[in-house]
Amino acid sequence: MRATMIPAWASLFLAPLVTLAADAAPCRVHVILFVPADVAPPSGYERRMDQIVNYTESFLRRGLERWGHRNVASPFRRSADGHAEVELMRGKEAASHYKPVTVRTEVMDALRRRGRLDGGRQIWWIMVYVGDPPAKFAGFLGGYGQQIGGWSVCQFNTAPGRIDPAEPLGSDFLESLMLKGMIHELGHAFQLPHIGPLNRDKSGNTLMGPTHHHYRRVVPTGERRVYLSEAEAAMLSTHPAFRGVPDDRGQPPKVEVRDMSYAVDSRSGTLVVRGRVRASRRAVYALVADESDARPGEYWTKTYVGKVAPDGSFAVTVSEPSKSNGTLKTWFAFENGALTGDGRGAARDGGIPRAYTYGRRGWSFN
Ligand SMILES: [Zn+2]
Repeated sequence: MRATMIPAWASLFLAPLVTLAADAAPCRVHVILFVPADVAPPSGYERRMDQIVNYTESFLRRGLERWGHRNVASPFRRSADGHAEVELMRGKEAASHYKPVTVRTEVMDALRRRGRLDGGRQIWWIMVYVGDPPAKFAGFLGGYGQQIGGWSVCQFNTAPGRIDPAEPLGSDFLESLMLKGMIHELGHAFQLPHIGPLNRDKSGNTLMGPTHHHYRRVVPTGERRVYLSEAEAAMLSTHPAFRGVPDDRGQPPKVEVRDMSYAVDSRSGTLVVRGRVRASRRAVYALVADESDARPGEYWTKTYVGKVAPDGSFAVTVSEPSKSNGTLKTWFAFENGALTGDGRGAARDGGIPRAYTYGRRGWSFN
């Protein structure tokens, strides 16, 4: 299965030479096991780490393949014998001192001192171990910073058992490990926003959707599956870590969008967003998030995707609008992995907004 991936060294040769500054290393996920000063590192943590990384890699690869993204590089670092590379980092303080942000701050300071932050072009997946269960590190958080790169903080859980890549993320064991939360926060490190499931996908909850608990409160069917949505896959496919290349995103591209139009197809009950994008980098996908008032929460934001044609034109169909007021937000995934619609904010935060209303005569953009 791994044969379908382009090894990092191969895609380096495929990348245009101009992007290869002498100091630019390919963007990868660096796994860090963070252990506070008053806790002994867990014995045999390498095996659990291998399982976590293998599951995540297989989940993301399957999701990308489902939506036609093949030849995707693995974002994870492996040793020569195939094990996940993990760096053990000892905290200065006792476990009770740490929250996600204090963990991140200490890790980033250490990496900065060692000259390893690489100008914010790497991804840091920080797993915190505060002891075997029932000891618990409750804070899960992820994001992106210009200086530090993608980061996420989660708990490293040593509960006995095996992580089976064929099991859904909502299975009892994987849910007890909070594996979905761990990969969800990594998704934020890749700059993915919250994205909810589409009914038409019939695949359960989304990676960037609500927690298992909130999902089941809204969809009480016993559903355990979690999937990578088409919009999530489109954004990941352009990210440097999934192309095996250095991160050359730097400042967001200058974006000019013309001829935006918002149409209602009352026969099919869908909305269609059209336009034409010109930018300093080539836009590959157009994304439209439906910030409907009827969402059970922000995590449920249905998000749609369409390809951008060589002339910059795009059309995205919002196939499951709710019968409510709301706002559509449009942004683009660029060839270098940048995500913006307005050339300032990232992903949905940088989306071009357009409000709509719903009344007796259906949706309206006036
Ligand atoms: Zn989140």
